[in-house]
Amino acid sequence: MQKLNKIYEGKAKIIYQTDQPDLVIQYFKDDATAFDATKRGTINSKGICNNKISAEIFKVLEKNNIPTHFVKLLDERSMLVKRVEIVPIEVTMRNITAGGISKLLGIDEGIILDNPVLEYHYKNDSLHDPLFNEYHIYALKLATARELEAIKDLSFKINTVLIDFFGKRDLDLVDFKLEFGRYKNKIVLADEISPDTCRFWEKGTKKKLDKDRFRRDLGDVEGAYQEVLKRVLSGK
Ligand code: UDP
Repeated sequence: MQKLNKIYEGKAKIIYQTDQPDLVIQYFKDDATAFDATKRGTINSKGICNNKISAEIFKVLEKNNIPTHFVKLLDERSMLVKRVEIVPIEVTMRNITAGGISKLLGIDEGIILDNPVLEYHYKNDSLHDPLFNEYHIYALKLATARELEAIKDLSFKINTVLIDFFGKRDLDLVDFKLEFGRYKNKIVLADEISPDTCRFWEKGTKKKLDKDRFRRDLGDVEGAYQEVLKRVLSGK
């Protein structure tokens, strides 16, 4: 597998072309941003942790019949993935209140939601990823009704699988963000699933083991990512 030109560089990852048109390399950086990239920093070895955590989770999801862009791990910071067209919608799934929903609705963090809450955000940095609904999605022609049904259905299934997976590792899955892509006319899960894109609270202590340690200056950010990787690989 040959690594060719850089196609795209985002805040936390770089996508490289390969010698196969349908496959690209997703490379994970240590760069961290928060609050619309107004806060910037580096988290040592974050890229390594997120690459390995994401790979493991994609494998678990594939085993549960969730189609993903994941093909295989290449090295410490890279994975081979299918080249997809990203649907510009960020899906947020919430099981416990925190962050955006607490701010939006004026409610405390840490309230267990009886039913998971699904949100759509328009993936648009200059508009600050605004919350929107399916009518906006259709108005902007971002996805067809069939595609959005698939996205919604997969998001709830992924939530069920991940609550169980992390629960067995003594982590509460508070919330997370998903991105989907089109691959050969099918919707597949893309991007990453990591402490950058999920909130994890240790059961019992409620210790935050995710990017909130960076956002809120809670210290030992690197340790939190390492701890999540350790638990993900622990095969409990
Ligand atoms: N999230 C993300 N990328 C974003 C916004 C949110 O990965 O651009 C994740 C975030 O890490 C959290 C979940 O989505 O696990 C819900 O985030 P929220 O809407 O509460 O926003 P935040 O408080 O992170 O600004």
